[in-house]
Amino acid sequence: LRDRLARSGAIGRGILGLLTRGSVDEDTWDEIEETLLLADLGPDATDELLDSLRRRIQVLGTDDPAAVREVLREELIALIDPELDRRLAASRRDAADGTELPSVLLMVGVNGTGKTTTVGKLARVLVAAERSVVLGAADTFRAAAADQLETWGSRVGVETVRADRDGADPAAVAFDAVKEGIAQGSDVVIIDTAGRLQNKKGLMDELGKVRRVAEKGLHGDTVAEVLLVIDATTGQNGLQQARVFSEAVQITGIVLTKLDGTAKGGIVVKVQRELGVPVKMVGLGEGMDDLTPFDPHGFVDALLG
Ligand code: GDP
Repeated sequence: LRDRLARSGAIGRGILGLLTRGSVDEDTWDEIEETLLLADLGPDATDELLDSLRRRIQVLGTDDPAAVREVLREELIALIDPELDRRLAASRRDAADGTELPSVLLMVGVNGTGKTTTVGKLARVLVAAERSVVLGAADTFRAAAADQLETWGSRVGVETVRADRDGADPAAVAFDAVKEGIAQGSDVVIIDTAGRLQNKKGLMDELGKVRRVAEKGLHGDTVAEVLLVIDATTGQNGLQQARVFSEAVQITGIVLTKLDGTAKGGIVVKVQRELGVPVKMVGLGEGMDDLTPFDPHGFVDALLG
């Protein structure tokens, strides 16, 4: 992870450098605050972290780099909350009527964030874990989207269910994908949805319908996960757009993509706080194997450099 995070250690090197250059005065604290804000931690988390750092370093009575690093590590991990459940629901399950059903993962988010790529990479992770997977191309708005998904499907060796014409009803594709998943006895069905940002009502109607119809296909059982894909490089603006999706449909987890392309690793803390759900996976590149479960401890170690 460390090697693949762009300019990793931005937070750690910045802060440790400041804290260990002699007396820690108000200017130093201002600079530490700036470092945290620049890393996209967000103002609230930055204040919290500064308060606890100040307190603990005072109690510690030392600016020994190893001790300070440990305090910083613990405080960052606490902010990310290692207790949150980040496992994906990705196995077959029994519906109320006893039928064995696949876990359905609905992927939502703004175009360009890496949603389709993430579906492909996620299928790869699941196949490697010996899960059987079917993909559903419910982004029927962009003609190329289904082609792109199908390419990923054949790359990782799973079937892609797609509409037979452009502009078809996305919910119908979701339904067909679920049906196919059930027919094949698959463990997981991953549904890629359209990411155009219309108004909130339009988005709500569209995603709500995809979800409802997928659940109809599941004999009334609920979809297992609604994963919101967010591009780590887009900062506050991207987060604002992402929030519209989380308001339109109840999300269960976040996939943060393009973490390889930013030094602003603090964004993990910010998205979790602002959206109130855990980051479950992170994208670290464009390749097939560049998606990993999010591990707070490994991530913080990488941040600290
Ligand atoms: P969608 O419109 O949300 O479906 O986005 P795409 O899946 O088409 O991805 C948009 C671009 O982002 C593509 O060029 C991807 O290769 C790239 N991409 C996706 N995930 C990552 C990632 O984790 N890291 C990097 N560096 N690029 C990514």
